[in-house]
Amino acid sequence: MPDTAQIFSNILDVVKALDPANTRKWFDELVVLRFAHGLLEIGCPDEATSQFLSDNCRGAFTKAAQNTTGHLVTVEFSPTAARFASPAASQPARAVKVHPDYTFENFVVGPANRLAHASCIAVSHAPGTTYNPLFLYGSVGLGKTHLLHAVCRETQKKIPDAFVRFLSCEQFVNAFISAIEKGTLQEFQSHCRSVDMLVIDDVQFLREREHSQEEFFHTFNALYNNRKQIVLTADCAPAELPSLEDRLISRFKWGLVARLDAPSYETRVAIVQKKAHLRGLEIPESVAEYIARKVQANIRELEGALTIIYATAKTTGEEISLDLAKRAIGAEVDIAKTVTISEIIDAVTNYYDVRLTDLQSKKRSQSITLPRQICMFLARSLTRHSLEEIGGHLGGRDHTTVLHACSKIKQLQKNDPQTNAQLTELTKTITQS
Ligand code: ADP
Ligand code: MG
Repeated sequence: MPDTAQIFSNILDVVKALDPANTRKWFDELVVLRFAHGLLEIGCPDEATSQFLSDNCRGAFTKAAQNTTGHLVTVEFSPTAARFASPAASQPARAVKVHPDYTFENFVVGPANRLAHASCIAVSHAPGTTYNPLFLYGSVGLGKTHLLHAVCRETQKKIPDAFVRFLSCEQFVNAFISAIEKGTLQEFQSHCRSVDMLVIDDVQFLREREHSQEEFFHTFNALYNNRKQIVLTADCAPAELPSLEDRLISRFKWGLVARLDAPSYETRVAIVQKKAHLRGLEIPESVAEYIARKVQANIRELEGALTIIYATAKTTGEEISLDLAKRAIGAEVDIAKTVTISEIIDAVTNYYDVRLTDLQSKKRSQSITLPRQICMFLARSLTRHSLEEIGGHLGGRDHTTVLHACSKIKQLQKNDPQTNAQLTELTKTITQS
C-alpha cells in the first residue's frame, strides 16, 4: 500500500495540472498533518500561505485528493507555526493577512516603479517618520497591491508589535457602514485610530461615498497628528480623483506621491522569469522574451500568459518552448486584454434588464442576485481584476462574497443548462463587442 507521503505527492501532481495559475513552488514544503476518516489536513508554513490555499486552491486539492484516492475527501489547511507556537507568542487577531507572493523579494524593480518601491521600503522600516502619507498611484496591474502587502509584511517583521491594519477601500466602507447600522461607530473609530499603520488600497472607490469620505478624513487627521503611518493607493493621481473632496485630496499630497508606470521590456522579462520561478517552472529565455513582447500594459496579463502556456504544455505533454508559447498565447492574450468590468456590467444589465444601481444595492431578490453574481463570475473569468476590485465595482462587496458568487455560478454552469446557455451567450457578446 502506498504511504501518505506518496499519496500526497500524487495529489500535488494532480493539483498542479488542475490549477496551474495557483500552483507555487512552495507547495513542495506542504506537509500532511492528518489523513484519516476522509479528512486531509495539510500543514502550511504560515498563516499567509494557509489563507492563500483556502481562498484559491481548496477546490483543486479536494478534486485531486478524490481522484487520487477514489474516496470523498475533505481538505483543510492549517498554519503549522501557529499550531505549535505557544499561545503567548501568537497574536493572530492582530496579524495582517498578506498574500504569500507579494513580498519585496518577489517584486522586480525597474525605472517605472523604483520610487514607489524605495518609498515603500523606507516606510516599512520607519513608519510614520519618512513619508507620511505615502500615496501610490498607477493604472491596474502595475503592482500597487503587491507593494502594500510587502509593506505590511515587512513592517510586522521589523516591528513585531506594530499594529498594522490593511483594508481594501471597500472593507473600510463596509466596516464603517456596518458600524453605523449596529450602533458601534465609536468602537470602529477608536479601532481605526489606534493603529500604528493604516493601509488602504484603491481609495478611488471612496468617490460618491460622502459619509465614508467624511469618516476617512477624520481618521486620517487623527492618525496623521499622532504620527501614525498612512499608506494609500489609487488608480490615478490625487488631483485627478474625481468628486473626492478637495480637503481630502490636499491631505493626500502632504507626504510623498509616487507614480507607477508600465514597466519596460527588460523589467517585463525579469518579471516573467520571477513569476515562473515562483511557480517552479523552467522556461527558456526566448519564451520569457516572447511573453514580455506580446504583453505590454499590465503585469497581470503577463501572469495570465504564463498560465496559459503552462496549461497548454500540460495538456499536450510537450516541453515549454517558443513554438508552444506562440501557439498558446497567439490569440488568447488579446481577448483578455480588451474586456473591462464596465463592458461586462453593460452586457449583463442589458441581458437581464436590470439597472447597475440595483446590482450595487443590497437587494437580495433572485432577479437581482443572479445577474450580480453572473457579473462577478464573468469579471473573474474574463478579466484579471482581483476579487476586491470586482467587489468594488459591484457595490463594495468583499472578496469572500465575490468568491462565493463565482463558485455558485460555476456550479450552475455545470448543472443548470439554462444558466450555462446564458453564460455562453453573454461571453460571446462581451468578447466580440
Ligand atoms: P495593482 O494593485 O496595481 O492593480 P497588483 O499589485 O495587483 O496591481 O499586481 C498585479 C500582478 O502583477 C500581481 O500578481 C503582482 O505580483 C504583479 N506585479 C506587478 N508589478 C510587479 C513587479 N514589479 N514585480 C513582480 N510582480 C509584479
Ligand atoms: Mg490593486
